[in-house]
Amino acid sequence: MKIAILTSGGDSAGMNAVVRAVVKVGILKGCETWVVREGYEGLVRGNTEALSEQSLDEEPVDLPDNTSPDGTSFNLIHNLRFGDGDLLKDGTGDHPGTRSLKGRYIVRVGFDDVRAWFAEGGTLIGTARSKTFRTPEGRLQAAYNMIKEGLDALVVCGGDGSLTGADVFRAEWPKLVEALQSEGRITAEKAKLHAHLRIVGLVGSIDNDMSMTDLTIGAPTALHRICEAIDNINSTATSHSRAFVLEVMGRHCGWLALLAGVSGGADFIFIPERPPTSESWEDEMCECIHRHREVGKRKTIVIVAEGATDRDLNPIKADHVKDVLTERLGLDTRVTTLGHTQRGGRPCAYDRVLPTLQGMEAVETLLEATPTSPSYMIGIQENKITRVPLMEAVAMTRAVSAAIEAKDFEKAMSYRDPEFKE
Ligand code: ADP
Repeated sequence: MKIAILTSGGDSAGMNAVVRAVVKVGILKGCETWVVREGYEGLVRGNTEALSEQSLDEEPVDLPDNTSPDGTSFNLIHNLRFGDGDLLKDGTGDHPGTRSLKGRYIVRVGFDDVRAWFAEGGTLIGTARSKTFRTPEGRLQAAYNMIKEGLDALVVCGGDGSLTGADVFRAEWPKLVEALQSEGRITAEKAKLHAHLRIVGLVGSIDNDMSMTDLTIGAPTALHRICEAIDNINSTATSHSRAFVLEVMGRHCGWLALLAGVSGGADFIFIPERPPTSESWEDEMCECIHRHREVGKRKTIVIVAEGATDRDLNPIKADHVKDVLTERLGLDTRVTTLGHTQRGGRPCAYDRVLPTLQGMEAVETLLEATPTSPSYMIGIQENKITRVPLMEAVAMTRAVSAAIEAKDFEKAMSYRDPEFKE
């Protein structure tokens, strides 16, 4: 089997560990492993140029022994540069001792190419949002590029949009192959060989917003970043007896805000799934914080998820919360928006362990896939790595957002936690 892996949508810590795990386990299971740069966009663009070696003659490269544990050498592209220049514009540039990736978006990789990738933030193979992949023509070209390279399996690591794209691609695959054959772009033999596409999805999302899994790749690191930020803020808040309002990520999911509140010690938390229950959230928050101050607390921390609203879906914004705390409680209040500092940086230990275990499961899933089995998403539930039908998880995730938009917060909470009670 020839497996390709891509990362798509918003980046998250742990995506590189996914690539590393899939490549290493894939090779150990006897597969060929490839990466697709720049998400689906790379799949559409494919390879227009042969692997350039011109820059190799500048300096001889001492290639390390790059054999896999079974003694076979797989490392075809050692010293390729991932991540330099504006890859979407093909601006990889030439680097002494490296081969240029210009015009090549689908690249075979070996053990050495992904060595130690678990410690790197973001995604080294790039991610993008691809408009062309949303079109049938784009997906036809993507199918052609995959078949041209002989690829028959795809691992996608991204959010619910990316996983939907993977499912659409797989469902459409037989039609795409037929079209390519009738256009004379592939032979009947190739069409037969590539009659089905194996796909599997892994969830890379810092918000932990996917249903049917307890945790998504990147969420533990983002939580860790927020927790550190609160620790830092706590020092100054306590020293000056100040209030701080922190805005954290999470458009339809309050996981980061909630868990940051628990791990950092917040006084009040606003999340999208469960807006304050009283008529006036201002009253509710002020009463609570006043009580905390009365018992001697010197600092106040309020956490606002970016998608937090009141029960009428009016956004609750950090600046407004600050004004309320200043005017009604007379607190010296500051706002801190953590923004992209939550997303990046070195993955925490769990964002190395989870993608490694899930990457292993992804390869197993591909090897066991049949034309009739559903497309699976790899998750984790109650500390066990799981396989769940990908579109069920996506549908459930979208149902939570729909329930929030319909102001049915009880339903949204029941989707998040079936045992939840007010
Ligand atoms: P995320 O994966 O983080 O939710 P997006 O929703 O932006 O991010 O999706 C990432 C990419 O996945 C899109 O740019 C597009 O190329 C692809 N994609 C998303 N939805 C679909 C779809 N319904 N059909 C085909 N491709 C899709």
